[in-house]
Amino acid sequence: MKLLYTNENRILVSNIKNIVEYAGIKVTLKNEFAGGGVGELSTIDSWLELWVVDGDYEKAGKVIASSINSDNSQGWFCSKCAEKNDASFDFCWSCQTERT
Ligand SMILES: [Zn+2]
Repeated sequence: MKLLYTNENRILVSNIKNIVEYAGIKVTLKNEFAGGGVGELSTIDSWLELWVVDGDYEKAGKVIASSINSDNSQGWFCSKCAEKNDASFDFCWSCQTERT
């Protein structure tokens, strides 16, 4: 297993997970249930982590890169907080409102 992606923003990690899974790649989340008052954990330890098997690492990396770099797709603005979101996101990165 290799660490594919991690970020302080769990919504972002979840979005990446959806994108990679949509491409047919199996991923595993770590620290999914961390950060809920587990006293000894530092902040960095409770970041949500996305792991893939070694064989899928390169493919998954390309999926993420092409998704992030797809500037020709329009993106969308949140109906609640008006933040701009990547077209590949189903939920607002800022306030988690579902795309409309
Ligand atoms: Zn929003």
